[in-house]
Amino acid sequence: MGFYAPENFTSQAEIELAKSDRLLQPIWDWVINGREDILRSPLFPPFYALSIDYSFVLIFTIIDLFFADVPFFKKYKIQSDRKVTWDLAKKSLWLQLWNQLLWIYPMALVQLLWVPPTPLPPVAPTMWEFCSQLLIFFLMFDFGYFVFHVVHHRVKFLYRWCHSVHHMYSSPFTAAAQHLHPFELFVVSLMVTCIPWLFPTHCLTYWAWFFIAQAVSYEVHTGYDFPFALHHFIPIYSGAPAHDMHHMRPLTCFEPWLNYLDRIFGYHITYEDLKKMKDKRYGLYSKETETGLQKIN
Ligand SMILES: [Zn+2]
Ligand SMILES: [Zn+2]
Repeated sequence: MGFYAPENFTSQAEIELAKSDRLLQPIWDWVINGREDILRSPLFPPFYALSIDYSFVLIFTIIDLFFADVPFFKKYKIQSDRKVTWDLAKKSLWLQLWNQLLWIYPMALVQLLWVPPTPLPPVAPTMWEFCSQLLIFFLMFDFGYFVFHVVHHRVKFLYRWCHSVHHMYSSPFTAAAQHLHPFELFVVSLMVTCIPWLFPTHCLTYWAWFFIAQAVSYEVHTGYDFPFALHHFIPIYSGAPAHDMHHMRPLTCFEPWLNYLDRIFGYHITYEDLKKMKDKRYGLYSKETETGLQKIN
């Protein structure tokens, strides 16, 4: 079997042999057991993705609105002078609702018409295939969005027309992660959905990728530098402090999830770097570029 070669089992005996060999088989069996009709439906991926969205937004909006003064959360809030209010969150939730009604739900229904039911293979992916594909998807999205992001900051027309919507918030919070212009939402959704289509991807890997892509996107927007967050253990991972910096100083820290490209191109800065800088407007747009753009916080 090649690295990404699709598996073709010729007999039930071969299937049983492969099943006994796979570390992920018990998880895969548990996932599909009794849920085959739901999982096969073309409506499952969009509604699964939306349920991840709603869970993150709900949990962190409750934390932001009702538990922000709890010492644990207060201690790790990055922009400690900024508070998330219902008025702030409401504006973002309202835009997301419109984006979903006008774009996401109709696209889900279109999928119902032209996407065939998802085949559920009896055998789980190998651990190597599962992990290596997730890593490749992660690196591809991170690189692709970095290019999109830099272009949408450097080309003034694109910034003003599209990406400035996301920059209405200079202090991010979880509910603001999806505060996007419909075009940006389309591009991001397309990348997350289609990158795994470039490979023969097992649906377990595909669904795990959806969860990772959304969890990481929400994590960098939480506005909290939790001590257990990945960037404390993996220096190449940017995490919430870097993306918070990007919202505060939009011409810095462009890479969405990692930071090796930001470091190569000199875009990566930390709060300590910023404090030492003589240029008090470092990383900010000129007033002229921002003229007329709406700011929420
Ligand atoms: Zn952001
Ligand atoms: Zn940006």
